Amino acid sequence: MAGSTGPSLGERPHHVVVVGAGFAGLSLAQGLGGTPLRITLVDRRNYHLFQPLLYQVATAVLSQGEIAEPIRRILRRHKNVSVLLGEVDGIDTGRQEISIDGERLAYDTLVLATGATHSYFGHPEWERFAPGLKTLDDARRIRAKVLMAFELAELEEDPAERERLLTFTVIGGGPTGVEMAGAIAGLAKQALARDFRNIDPTKARILLVEAAPRILGPFPEDLATYAVRALERLGVTILTDRPVENIDERGIVVGGEFVPTATVVWAAGVTASPAGKWLDVGTDKAGRVEVGPDLSVPGLENVYVLGDLALARDENGKPLPGLAQVAHQQGDYLAKALQARILRGETPKPFRFRSRGNLAVIGRNEAVVHWDTVKLKGFSAWLVWGIAHVYLLVGFQNRLLVSLRWLWSYITHQFGSRIIDEDLSRRHSHEARTEVFIDAAHGEELRDRARS
Ligand SMILES: Cc1cc2nc3c(=O)[nH]c(=O)nc-3n(C[C@H](O)[C@H](O)[C@H](O)COP(=O)(O)OP(=O)(O)OC[C@H]3O[C@@H](n4cnc5c(N)ncnc54)[C@H](O)[C@@H]3O)c2cc1C
Repeated sequence: MAGSTGPSLGERPHHVVVVGAGFAGLSLAQGLGGTPLRITLVDRRNYHLFQPLLYQVATAVLSQGEIAEPIRRILRRHKNVSVLLGEVDGIDTGRQEISIDGERLAYDTLVLATGATHSYFGHPEWERFAPGLKTLDDARRIRAKVLMAFELAELEEDPAERERLLTFTVIGGGPTGVEMAGAIAGLAKQALARDFRNIDPTKARILLVEAAPRILGPFPEDLATYAVRALERLGVTILTDRPVENIDERGIVVGGEFVPTATVVWAAGVTASPAGKWLDVGTDKAGRVEVGPDLSVPGLENVYVLGDLALARDENGKPLPGLAQVAHQQGDYLAKALQARILRGETPKPFRFRSRGNLAVIGRNEAVVHWDTVKLKGFSAWLVWGIAHVYLLVGFQNRLLVSLRWLWSYITHQFGSRIIDEDLSRRHSHEARTEVFIDAAHGEELRDRARS
């Protein structure tokens, strides 16, 4: 539990520094808007990103501006909240200061909500060939890679290489992997179906690889089985119980077998940002900082950790999942708890997570929803998923644009954002050509490695 309540409000307002304007940090800053506290929200980006719809940017359904909103605009009416653009690179808890790009900023209360990033399970070299999906840059890069694979296949004369270019692999069968695989299938089999002359995009092979015995681990088995059938109907091949053993520029090795594939997307693992190191406290294997029932860091004065960065537990001691709804509720909770503690000198009640259910979309008209005893699948689940995501988007403009885009895609079967950025197009084209040169011999070597 955080001990003291910080300096009195007499001379200068108590300064709360929040690092990270994701779901947790933003809801906290909004909750503290209009209070007598002085709030500084620091983020290395000038926008809040709605990560649950990133895969739609990566698969050309939405464009990047539709899922991001400038932080200043969201908070402009709260005069007690300042926004600083900068990257935090260290913390001195003794002096109560953080370092932002080398500059020092003093705090009375510090809240860290810097989220998580990809983890390649000890294989950082795979990142080059299998980008993960966490930022807008990642989404743009994946979109370019996916669209370029079709463009290069159209030009390719060697049937084996064409097949490799038209094989798309998603590693990780959680909700993000399922959404990504379903969306690539939608792109290939509907949106691009009639746009090429030398290739048939509907023949593209989409693989979803999962190390566990089944996909959608957090969902009940019957919903996961439903998702498998729906994905298979879309043309996705699901490989379960097979951890990926290698990834390189030619393809992947899974279950001892080399699979040539030009596009691999990583949706398998995350690790928390390095705040544990900055605070000099222990973390779990995923880099998360263990917090107490009020989300404070035990042993540190007035330091709190929220969202994906926190290892918070429910009433039964079970770790809470890394979900937007957890982060959001923690931000809301801490806004009230800090006011109680700092302004009224009260001890707040512990944080309690109220699950709003698990949702995963599979494709057009297909989703699964699990909430307590309620299980939905198919069109009704898809409708709930769509309404929930539009409702949760920040900014009226984004809600309107996303709703219109989805309506347009639904009616026309077209994806509205199939632009390949010029620099990425040149890069992928060059990489693909040089890799083609790298060869058959390298493929052979990988196959040999897999066999031995
Ligand atoms: C592709 C994808 C799909 C998802 N789908 C769902 C879903 O459908 N439902 C769901 O509930 N959850 C989903 N999630 C999980 C959800 O997005 C996260 O749980 C949630 O974003 C965590 O919120 P957060 O505030 O902890 O971190 P984040 O939202 O990641 O925000 C962290 C913020 O900190 C900033 N930051 C990081 N490091 C620094 C630094 N050193 N200095 C300054 N700023 C920094 C970042 O720029 C960012 O703005 C998804 C995640 C991904 C990646």
